[in-house]
Amino acid sequence: MPSRNANSSRRSLFLLSVAMAGAVLLSLLISFTALGRQFDNYAYDFLFRLIQPKPWQPSSIILAIDEATLSKYGGNVGIRAAIADGIAKIKPANPAAVAVDVILAEPSTPEIDATLEAALAGTPNLILASYLLENETWTNPIPRFRRYAFSVGHVQASFDEHDSVSREVPLEKVAGHDRHWSLALDAFRAVNNVKQIEESPQDLRIGALTIPSKLRDNTIDGRTIRVRYPPLSMGRLPRISIAELDANPALAARFTGKVVFVGETALAAGDSWSTPYSNGKTTPGIEMHASEYETLVRRNFLTDASNLAVLAVCLLIATLAGVIFALGSGWLANTEAALLILGSQALPAIAFANSTVWDWMPGTLTAILSISAAATWRHLLVRRALRLSENEKTRYQKAMQFVTHEMRTPLTAIQGSSELISRYGQMPEAKRKQMAELINAESKRLARMIETFLSVERLSAGQMEMKQERFPLPELVERCTERARPYADRKQIEIDVENLPPDELTGDRELMEYAVYNLLTNAVKYSPEKTRVRVFGEDDKGGRIRLSIEDQGIGMDKKEVSRIFEKFYRTKRAEQSGEAGTGIGLSIVEQIVTQHGGTIDVESEPGKGSRFTLVLKRAS
Ligand code: ADP
Repeated sequence: MPSRNANSSRRSLFLLSVAMAGAVLLSLLISFTALGRQFDNYAYDFLFRLIQPKPWQPSSIILAIDEATLSKYGGNVGIRAAIADGIAKIKPANPAAVAVDVILAEPSTPEIDATLEAALAGTPNLILASYLLENETWTNPIPRFRRYAFSVGHVQASFDEHDSVSREVPLEKVAGHDRHWSLALDAFRAVNNVKQIEESPQDLRIGALTIPSKLRDNTIDGRTIRVRYPPLSMGRLPRISIAELDANPALAARFTGKVVFVGETALAAGDSWSTPYSNGKTTPGIEMHASEYETLVRRNFLTDASNLAVLAVCLLIATLAGVIFALGSGWLANTEAALLILGSQALPAIAFANSTVWDWMPGTLTAILSISAAATWRHLLVRRALRLSENEKTRYQKAMQFVTHEMRTPLTAIQGSSELISRYGQMPEAKRKQMAELINAESKRLARMIETFLSVERLSAGQMEMKQERFPLPELVERCTERARPYADRKQIEIDVENLPPDELTGDRELMEYAVYNLLTNAVKYSPEKTRVRVFGEDDKGGRIRLSIEDQGIGMDKKEVSRIFEKFYRTKRAEQSGEAGTGIGLSIVEQIVTQHGGTIDVESEPGKGSRFTLVLKRAS
């Protein structure tokens, strides 16, 4: 039936859409887990190394406290003396700013602090450091030093909690009433002489510079910035140690006009961390501050793609996967699916090249999940079509068996009679006439059988329009009972017709007759001798006609009743009674009645009898 096909294909398309939506949902859910984030980070690091910015002329330089400096100044106790020395040497070269990444929260010996103070005094755009301790207190520099500073910046980086790689740093840190901007941000502010930073939920504005950085309240780092470390081809940022400067004072000229980051690079200091470039090596904290500063100066900002855009792309990927497998299969669909996966991989790379961080997981997972689901859907669809066509084949074979079997009886009669006529030339006229009548009747029966069978087949294949005639119900029943009566008489079964409404039905009279006749002969067939078959009408509540055929025969249990409309099904009980036929009649009856917009109810009890009720539309 075409409508049934349309329904089932609509249903399977609906199933496909649900599967695609599910793929998107699942992908997003997985992407939000710690595992998903981890994969996104690895992809980020990969793209970070793959797509490196062009080398540039750095605006910053590191004044390093390296191993040589430490050994020269007597280890950690000599750090303040070293810084004092270093700053005193570069000051005449006029650096743009000096940011000191050393905590000066406690006084040291008066002589050392006096030298340091002398060095800090008059240093242009001096930024000092503060660190937020775990107990939420700041290690601010003592007033003695602080008074020379433009500001005090925090020196905390942030690290991924799972792999400890530093990808972004907090632009601000808040503890209680005290907030510090990052050391690099403050250096930038000092160089550009901006006192006030303008804040909005989306960005920070420092004079002419807008830093895209969303205020996130669900993390300890309110605003962060992704640090664009200098590309590997550029080598590390310029670095001169205090010991080198001592040995060669002419190096001071390198600091002219630069922002100087003063800090420890000695590995023993423990201030060294992984970056996406690291690959095992670590980067000193001071270099991370300088890189942050370079990121700000170069406006080399990496921003996150919006969640909405990611969702839209995931939906698009799933839709494409669905369309690919809804429209095709085989190598073409597989190639298209491969292209889709390729596209989902290219997108984060293209976005990264355009300074946008597009998470790798959602699109990739969506592509994989939706393609797998859509391909599975296609596979199941093909298998179902195969099964249907196989069913069709066996159905056809069974139908052929049925037809040949049913035709054999009348054909045998015709064959036999015609042989008799030709063999006995001198046959009495009466006998010859009887034979001819038999041949005539049997060939008509054959024709009727073929006609009915073909009509029903064509009807069920949706190829034939049903005739639309009007005919009175009593007349129809009358004709059926007349035809069935000789058969009933043989079993001494009475057929009573009661209470038929005079209404008319519309539809195919012949097919309806076939249906009622079939029910009637079944009633006789599956009843013992000397019983009664009742045919009666009732008014249905919905204004329809109920026509019942009731017998006192072998009956059926519930399980049997549920199967009798299947083609070729026969109950054990019927087979034992020796009456069972081909098991096809009722399936045809059901089709005819449904085609007429009616239904069949069956009530039956083993050993007591059955009642088949047709609920039919009245002709309007
Ligand atoms: P057939 O009668 O040729 O076997 P049908 O399709 O007409 O095929 O009926 C299918 C089966 O339903 C029968 O084989 C029989 O088992 C059961 N059946 C049908 N009508 C009756 C009835 N009135 N009483 C008991 N069993 C019935």
